[in-house]
Formats: sequence, C-alpha cells, structure tokens
Amino acid sequence: MQKYQTMIDGELIDSENGFEIHNPATGEVIGWAPISTSEEIERAIQSAKHAQVDWAAKSHEERKALLLKVAKVLEENAEYLAKLITIEQGKPLAGPGSMFEMQACVGWTQVAGSLDLAPEVVFEDETRRDEVHYSPLGVVAAIAPWNWPLMIAIWQISSSLRMGNTVVIKPSEYTPIGTLEMVRLMNTVLPAGVLNVISGDGAIGAQLVGHSDIDKIMFTGSTATGQRVVEASANNLAKLTLELGGNDAAIVLPDADPQKIAEDLFWGAFINMGQTCACAKRLYVHTSIHDEVVAALKALAEAMPMGNGLDDGIVLGPVQNRMQHNKVVELVEAAKSDGATIVCGGTADEGLFYPITLVTNISDDSRLVKEEQFGPVLPILKYEDLESAIASANALDVGLGASVWSGDTSAAAKVAARIEAGTVWINQHGAVHPMVPFGGSKLSGYGAEFGIAGLKAVSQAKVISTKL
Ligand code: NDP
Repeated sequence: MQKYQTMIDGELIDSENGFEIHNPATGEVIGWAPISTSEEIERAIQSAKHAQVDWAAKSHEERKALLLKVAKVLEENAEYLAKLITIEQGKPLAGPGSMFEMQACVGWTQVAGSLDLAPEVVFEDETRRDEVHYSPLGVVAAIAPWNWPLMIAIWQISSSLRMGNTVVIKPSEYTPIGTLEMVRLMNTVLPAGVLNVISGDGAIGAQLVGHSDIDKIMFTGSTATGQRVVEASANNLAKLTLELGGNDAAIVLPDADPQKIAEDLFWGAFINMGQTCACAKRLYVHTSIHDEVVAALKALAEAMPMGNGLDDGIVLGPVQNRMQHNKVVELVEAAKSDGATIVCGGTADEGLFYPITLVTNISDDSRLVKEEQFGPVLPILKYEDLESAIASANALDVGLGASVWSGDTSAAAKVAARIEAGTVWINQHGAVHPMVPFGGSKLSGYGAEFGIAGLKAVSQAKVISTKL
C-alpha cells in the first residue's frame, strides 16, 4: 500500500501512526495517510515562522514569479492529482469533476501570481499624506474540507503566499492524500518551510489553529467547527477568514425559460453531488412554471451517468463519506414523513451512492429545507407571491450564496438586492471567479477570499502617515 507523507521544512516526514484511506466509489483501500504528532505540528509551525522572514523579504515580483512556477507544476501534474482526487474524494475525472478542480487550482494560483496590491493614498493635503500599505501577517493555519480538497486548499494557500505569509495546512482526514501530494509537488519550486502540510483528524486541526504562533486562520467547513475555531483564536487573536456552510436559495421568476435554465440550474444544485458550500440547496419556483422546471430537472437527473469516476462517461460520483450519506438519507426520510413527493431518486443505492433526488410538495418547515443537506437532493417549493419567496430565502440564519433566474436581468437584480447573502448570482449559481470576492453573511462566516479583497484579508493594513 502506498504510504503518503507530510512535508515539514521542505522534508518528507516518516510518521509511525496513520490510517487507511478508502475510495468512496469502491470501498477499496487506496493508501495510508499519517497522523502528525504534537512534536511534528510544532516543527511545522516553527519552520513556517522561520521561513516567513526571508519569504516576506522577497519582492512582490519574486513571489509572483514563484507562484507562476507553482501554477506550472500544478498544470504539469494535473492528471496525476486529478486521479488522486477522483479515487479519494469521488468526483469523476470528467464533467465538472476532478480535472475541472485541477484547472481551478492552476487558474487561482495564476491569478494570485499576477495580481498587484499597491499602497493606497487615503488622504493628502498640503500638511500630510496618508498611505495604506499591505504587509504580511505571518504564519497562516489553513484548514481545508473534503468536498473540493485541492481547490479550497489552493484558495487558502495562494493568496497567503502571494502576500508574504507562510502556511501550515491540514487537509480533512477524509481526503488527505491529494493535498499531501500537491504540497510535495509545490515544494519542488518553493523555498523550504514556506508551505508545510500536517495530517490527521480535527484534534490535529485544533492544535494548529490554537497555537500561539499562528497569525491568521483560513477555515472552510461547518458552522459548528467554525465556531470552535473562533473560540480557539481567543488565545492567539489570529485574524480569521471563515467560509462556513450555507443553505442557498434559488428563486425562479415566472418569466424564466425552464428549458433554457435547466442545465445551469441542475449543475448549480448538483455539482460535486451537491457537496459544495455554494450549491443551490432550496429551489423556489413560481407556480406558473413549477411543473415544467421540475420535469426539465428530472430529465437531466435521469440522463446523467453516475458511477466510478475513473470510468469513461461518468459525470456524477458517490457521496464522499458515511457521515454525509447518513445525513442525506435522514433528511430525505424526514421529508417523506412530512408527506413530500419524491419526484426521482429517494432511495439509497449501494455503498456510498445516492441517486439525484428531487422533492416537491414540501414546505419551509421541513428539515430538508431548513437544514443544509450538502448532498444530491433538492427540495423544490412552489410560490405564488414573490414577497413570500424573498422572505423564505432570507428566513434562515445562514447566507452564503443565492440566485435569481429570469429572462429580465434588471428585474432579477431588484430581487437580488433584497436577498441576504454574500453573493447573489443571476441566471447562474455558485459561479465563483478568482477575481471576484467571495464570502458569507450571517452564520455563513466572515472575511472575503479571491481577488484584491482576498489579498487584503491575508495582509496587515499598515498606515504610513507623513507630515509634509
Ligand atoms: P468540519 O467543519 O468538521 O470539517 C472541516 C475541516 O475542519 C476539516 O479539515 C476538519 O478536519 C477540521 N476540523 C474539525 N474540527 C476542528 C477543530 N476543532 N479545529 C480545527 N479544525 C477542525 O465538517 P465535517 O466534515 O464534519 O462536515 C459537516 C458538515 O459541514 C457538512 O455536512 C456540511 O454541511 C458542512 N461542510 C461545509 C463545507 C464548506 O465548503 N463550507 C465543507 C465541508 C463540510 P477532519 O475532517 O479531519 O475532522
């Protein structure tokens, strides 16, 4: 069995303890991942702290050039890493799957290696000039989840490195292998200690984020764990970027064309089997086109091949883990007991597979609507009056994304302005972009990633004020 290794200070580490990783599509053991010891966690943080001095002293141009080299390494190894994502996480090579995830890794790294964050003159008169400069924060602890393991790791790493910080990353115990290998490859061009990876469960993550030498925490995961990270940061007062779960509403206005929007709506809800923070998780459709939208989505659900993501033509894989699968089963069963209609799917397949499931005749009170399912099931709710759909969209205590679907983009924009979310997409959902800030409102977290806002979030804003 292949034993994967952590990397600390540019060195691969031989660990004694570890655990087996299984392919969620087949159940087969695909490798062994280490459990970092407390001593290794300490070494990783100290190596990042030590390396940060020289890394911060490099010019922006030098760091940009190195990030572009990293992007090249990711591009050259895209197929290798994509295959690891598929056998470890489950998303297929094809469709919006693991090759798509690797393209995103390359793209986000290229953007981080190209953007400039120049000092800003915020005030100037004949007596004084005030500029804001952006300096590094220090050591970043990155905690990545299992749904888009490499892409989210890259979101956390690339902006942090760009601004002169160094990083210790801990991947999820469900999906460590791809990240261990990606970090090893990135270290072929980065100086030792700039990017370190440790491995293990949530307790290892807790040791990392609570350490007194951590200056910034980039966390993506559940609201409950995010709240524990906030508590841990009371110790080191690390700055936080928290990208937590959501329960995104999508509202389809009566003038939308069901056939035209169906495919984007389908992938907006079911990309990565719905295991995506900014997926459409509650669909509100005007009564006049409800049945047509449901029929169009059902036709797509039944046409999309699901299976082992290494096989040709497969575009949907298994649910990643048993915890998540159980959650989907539980919420669908709760909807059935509420008297909802299962339009398609609704019964677990073998292993970790679960069919695409559309649920109608359901109300806002159902657990499937109120709780984030994070899986291949979509509740579809009829509305008559737009005000009630907007009120439903805003009723929950999370607000990551949302979308409005219409033939009239200015009418949709008026609705978008009234929805409480970090992003409201029009005629698309979850369409994140490396130049566009992304972050949540309410219990979906705080802080922005991507673009200039993302660079600022991993920097210390420092005022230089000169008397003239
Ligand atoms: P968690 O929030 O527990 O896991 C996210 C990351 O945090 C993982 O790397 C995890 O490590 C790590 N972690 C766990 N505990 C701590 C801690 N105390 N301190 C620091 N890091 C910690 O999510 P789950 O995997 O349990 O998923 C539960 C739900 O969260 C999902 O059903 C979904 O609703 C939501 N979720 C949202 C994601 C998003 O993209 N916003 C991504 C993943 C989940 P480890 O996995 O090793 O325990």
